[in-house]
Amino acid sequence: MKTEYLYKQPKTLLNKGTGFLSGYSHSLNPYTGCTFGCSYCYVRQMPVSTFRDGVWGNWVDIKQDAAEIFRKELKRAKAKGEVSIFMSSSTDPYQPIEHNEMVTRSLLEVMVEDPPEFLLVQTRSPLIRRDIDLLLLLKDRVRVSMTVETDRDDMRKYFTPHAPPIQARLATLLLLKEAGVPTQVTIAPVLPSTENFADKLLPLVNRICIDDYFMGDGSGGKRTRNLKIDSLYTALGMKEWYHPSAYKIVYDRMKQVFPEDQIYISKKGFEP
Ligand code: SF4
Repeated sequence: MKTEYLYKQPKTLLNKGTGFLSGYSHSLNPYTGCTFGCSYCYVRQMPVSTFRDGVWGNWVDIKQDAAEIFRKELKRAKAKGEVSIFMSSSTDPYQPIEHNEMVTRSLLEVMVEDPPEFLLVQTRSPLIRRDIDLLLLLKDRVRVSMTVETDRDDMRKYFTPHAPPIQARLATLLLLKEAGVPTQVTIAPVLPSTENFADKLLPLVNRICIDDYFMGDGSGGKRTRNLKIDSLYTALGMKEWYHPSAYKIVYDRMKQVFPEDQIYISKKGFEP
């Protein structure tokens, strides 16, 4: 199916940080929609998707004049108090269209000029390496949180066939680390992984966030149940990995390699 790209003029870019993101004053989404189209993406169940024609993953709205609007909003928000930003909660800021459109880059440029207290960049895309120059200018006010749900690329292909390969994400983490950009790995949602996962992460990060469908989909697992993600595990013969305690398999393996204070569970791992 052909992807539909539309240019839209947003009224605002900053949204109030609520619920899972209550540790942030704001969330920021450079796009609406996401062509990674992960099978388990809970945004499929949210109004942004349900009130729009088209299958989640096959459309993206590109926010026009985003930097100008954001510059003014950021200034206003900072005049009212401390601003901490989660980018992004319902899209990937480095999905493929960003390569040409550079909306995310333009927002980073605004933040370099007028830094928020803290910015978390949540992505699974190696494209973020393009913006290392800007990320470095934000110094310790930024953290890149790279989603790496598993070290098994066969699982990545099964659950998220349009998302970047795991190896490319690990290579990007190494690049970010070598450049001096603060990073973490976000194992979310926990997908079936190998016993060597922690060893592969050890040279790359010193901060790990683990989250799953039951703690992290914003509805205690209901949105994921509605998506019938359990049937994907049943088809694999891996139902033990679709369980509220499955994250402990990964947690215990990480604990054997990383100090406990470097491992964060669910919401704690996303906080500033
Ligand atoms: S990358 Fe994130 S926002 Fe995009 S489809 Fe996957 S889970 Fe959803």
